Parts: sequence; C-alpha cells; structure tokens
Amino acid sequence: MARFKRILLKLSGESLMGEQHYGIDEHRLAQYAEQIKEIHDMGVEIGIVIGGGNIFRGLKGAGKGFDRVKGDQMGMLATTINGLGLSSALSAAGCPNTVLTAIRMEPIGEFYTKWKAIEAMQQGKVAIMVGGTGSPYFTTDTGSSLRGIEIEADVMLKGTRVDGVYTADPEKDPTATKFQEITFDEIYNRNLKVMDLTATTMCKENGLPIYVFNMDVPGNLKKVIDGEPIGTLVHA
Ligand code: UDP
Repeated sequence: MARFKRILLKLSGESLMGEQHYGIDEHRLAQYAEQIKEIHDMGVEIGIVIGGGNIFRGLKGAGKGFDRVKGDQMGMLATTINGLGLSSALSAAGCPNTVLTAIRMEPIGEFYTKWKAIEAMQQGKVAIMVGGTGSPYFTTDTGSSLRGIEIEADVMLKGTRVDGVYTADPEKDPTATKFQEITFDEIYNRNLKVMDLTATTMCKENGLPIYVFNMDVPGNLKKVIDGEPIGTLVHA
C-alpha cells in the first residue's frame, strides 16, 4: 500500500543540471522520469512543480541589471522549458502526463486550473504544472505550496540533493545532524532553510506537510512512498 494517495512533487531546476553547470542533463532527467514512473505504476496520483534555477533566476538577474519582473518572467519560462523536458522524458518512459501552464501559452500546455490538474491525475496522467505561480516575486517553492494545497495533495515531497533537514547546512558543517521529523514552528525558531518563508508559511497555514528527501539517488522516491524513513517530515 502506498503511504500517500496524492502527492505534489517539487523538483528543483538546479538538480536537473546533474554534473553540468547549466541547463539540463538528459541522464538526470531520464532517471527522474524512471523514479516517477515507478510510483505512478503503484497508483499514486502525481502533481509536479519544477524549478528553473538551472536556467535563470529573476533575483540573480536583477543583481546583474535585469528588470526584476522581466527577470522573474524569464525564470517562469525557464520552469516551462524544464517541464517540457520532463514531459518528454516521462513520455519516453511510457508514463502518461500533461503540461499545465500558469501563464497562457497554448499550444505548449493547457492553461492551469485546479480542476484540470485533478482530472488529469484521476485519468492516470502525471500533471506537470509549470510557470510557478504565474506571478513575479515568488519562487517555485511557493508555487509548489500553492499547487499542493490547491490539488489537495496529502504531502509535498521536496526532492533535493540533501537527504533531509539538518541542524545546519551539512555541506558546510560536518557536525550537523539530521531530523527524522520536525515541526513548522521549530523550523522558524531554529531559522532553518527548508524552503523560503512564504512557501513554508503557506504549507503551515493550510496543513500541507512537507517531506524532504534526496531525489538524486535512484529508487528513493519509491522508498518515500513505501514509508521508508529516508528523509525528514515537516509537520504542524
Ligand atoms: N519564478 C517567479 N514566480 C514563481 C515561480 C518562479 O517569478 O511563482 C521565477 C523566479 O525568478 C525564480 C525562477 O522563476 O528565481 C526559477 O524558479 P526557482 O528559483 O524557484 O527555481 P529552483 O530554485 O527550484 O530551481
């Protein structure tokens, strides 16, 4: 039995780079697609929000002189490029899917509504929701919180390159220890960076738990669905 019936999977754009410094590593993409297909075959309803940091981030662009709003729009288009890549990889793996866009851009994808996403998932398709929230000054973490709440997901699975939430950044501090579970309040009190505050607060206020795990290890997504304690659960 799968632990969750409907999930919102957040994939960071940065992870899509794999060993590269920019863009999309097709091997990483194919590996993600295989992992997603694996849980799709178990009957889990899957909504996906994907980031764009491997291509463009508005805030970084603003630091280089780009207009912030245009930079954020470039970032949202970057998430769309990644979403199309993921859609293609899922189709190649034999996993039905559909792309829904936060900004109107048919024929690239249908304009997102909650009901289209739910209908697609109920028809056995993975719903890839691109373009973040459709508004500047937000991130795809916030986009994931919003979409996860809207589609009434049981949990947001945040696939990262770290295997959970630590007392400090484990890539910088070797003494950092990992939490099996942690409350939203403790995240604030300890000033831990699971997601940005807007995204975290949306999850807290709307009762959407977050499960942080390392998606870069093949088979891990299935382990999460099987209930193996490989990451960190953030809950109320
Ligand atoms: N973005 C935005 N609104 C949103 C989601 C994303 O403006 O609702 C822009 C923003 O510029 C952001 C970029 O898209 O930097 C890429 O998203 P993000 O940085 O969240 O990607 P990730 O870090 O997950 O790769």
